[in-house]
Amino acid sequence: MSLPATASVLIVGGGPVGLTLANLLGSEGIPTLLVERNPGCVAEPRAVALDGESLRTLQAVGLAKTVSAHIRQGFVADYLNGAGELLFTTDLTARPYGFCIQNSFDQPTLERQLLRGLARFPCVTVCHSTQLLDFHQDEDGVSATLRDSEGEMRKLRVTSLVGCDGGRSGVRQRLGIAMHGERLPQRWLVIDTVDPHLGEEPACRFFCDPRRPAMTIVRPGGERRWEWMLIGDETDEEMLEDTRIRTLLGEHTEPGQVQVYRKCVYSFSAVVARAFSAGRVFLAGDAAHMTPPFAGQGLNAGIRDARNLSWKLAAVITERLPRQLLGSYDLERREAARQMVDLAVELGDRIQPTDPAVAAERDALFAALNSDPVAAANFGVDAIAPLRDVRLPRGWFAGPCGGRLLPQPELAGSAGPLLLDELLGKGFTALLRGVRALPERLAAHPLWRQLAPAEVHLDLAARQALAGFIDSDRPGITLLRPDRFVLADLAADDSESLDTLLRQLQALQAA
Ligand SMILES: Cc1cc2nc3c(=O)[nH]c(=O)nc-3n(C[C@H](O)[C@H](O)[C@H](O)COP(=O)(O)OP(=O)(O)OC[C@H]3O[C@@H](n4cnc5c(N)ncnc54)[C@H](O)[C@@H]3O)c2cc1C
Repeated sequence: MSLPATASVLIVGGGPVGLTLANLLGSEGIPTLLVERNPGCVAEPRAVALDGESLRTLQAVGLAKTVSAHIRQGFVADYLNGAGELLFTTDLTARPYGFCIQNSFDQPTLERQLLRGLARFPCVTVCHSTQLLDFHQDEDGVSATLRDSEGEMRKLRVTSLVGCDGGRSGVRQRLGIAMHGERLPQRWLVIDTVDPHLGEEPACRFFCDPRRPAMTIVRPGGERRWEWMLIGDETDEEMLEDTRIRTLLGEHTEPGQVQVYRKCVYSFSAVVARAFSAGRVFLAGDAAHMTPPFAGQGLNAGIRDARNLSWKLAAVITERLPRQLLGSYDLERREAARQMVDLAVELGDRIQPTDPAVAAERDALFAALNSDPVAAANFGVDAIAPLRDVRLPRGWFAGPCGGRLLPQPELAGSAGPLLLDELLGKGFTALLRGVRALPERLAAHPLWRQLAPAEVHLDLAARQALAGFIDSDRPGITLLRPDRFVLADLAADDSESLDTLLRQLQALQAA
């Protein structure tokens, strides 16, 4: 496709994060250009786990059904020690946000679905074989230099630029933003297989064996991912030899029946950019953070970036909110990304010990924990708490419930079950429970009026489904941002959160 003469947002990078962001901006009607230097989507299945929050974002752009048809929904992850004994289990089948906490999927399939989804938005242009070479920003916008698919240099002026250009992000380097963290010393052999005889169980296992830590997860279509850590002075070349792979597979299945269709050796980074934005330029996805894969969060964290940034860009470009709001992107996403990286590093620390003494200490700890089944189950739940109860560490929200992601229960609709978001507006939404209208001070505020929030009266069933999250017996209003995070929960008999929110709106307006 040829480059458009103008666009509001330039997305650099057509990986899963850039493609998701383009879908989100497209659904807001924002003129967007996505450039990708490769001629098409990549064929490598890197990420294997897509979480429920990501699926909720795909639901927001009308792609959840398409994507769900090609994923394996929910699984239980078992962590075993070197003797094959269970250390702990995390059950990832609950649906706090409408979809299972974790699901296995195929990254190339997802990327193709996201790309096809963009055809629905005339305001979005995708240019493959097109590379960002350079950019400069000033007070009013960003000037980008691109090389198009014919090899011609092209200039484009945009309001904002988003670097979704992966771990080696040229955008980040051009901004002079450093990554903070470390490259982990361990190396892992990663292979993808088709093994029709192995079946779907075990769905996901981490072998915390000090002789060789490893993991496996079943993927849709009878495919399976295997990962083995390299030990001592093993080289990449020897680990990638077919005979070595067959020996490793032979511990779990009949290697003769397995088709290995991809193999490579990876090492992982646990790094977060020192800033997620500079002026009118933003970083998202691997360009902003990279994590070891143990929590299945690299791509998912990138999709969170896209969701967080998209509605803010849309609100600012359409002049419904002041530009100052964009400062909250870094505030909300950077610390949250750091927490996810820490979670992955912590899980890695349980899986990767090769020192028998350290592994024995870990095993003894879990043996003690497992003597109390309730404590053992709680440990599994706590290990993935950040995925079950998502909270923004700080940012644009008010009051005690502010900054928490609204659960998405399934409700009974006249035409069958439906998910809560389907009842809500796309933008800002006020959920009213037992009150007729918004407080006058808020309803009259010019900024709030500009946001044109939808008003939804929760019926008893919806209130009960949300009980435990909001105080459903107490009349009040839950104000939601477009990304479904709570802006504020205003109990009718408590004016403190309302005062805080009004002060925030005032500060934004004055900016
Ligand atoms: C072994 C492994 C397992 C993983 N498992 C998981 C998992 O289970 N769950 C999970 O969530 N994540 C996982 N990840 C991480 C996940 O794959 C990445 O986080 C994700 O692919 C990052 O997406 P992205 O869109 O940010 O970047 P990328 O997919 O790297 O895309 C960046 C794109 O930008 C393009 N580009 C770069 N520079 C330019 C330029 N100047 N002009 C134009 N285009 C440019 C590149 O060509 C590329 O296509 C795993 C990763 C690995 C390696």
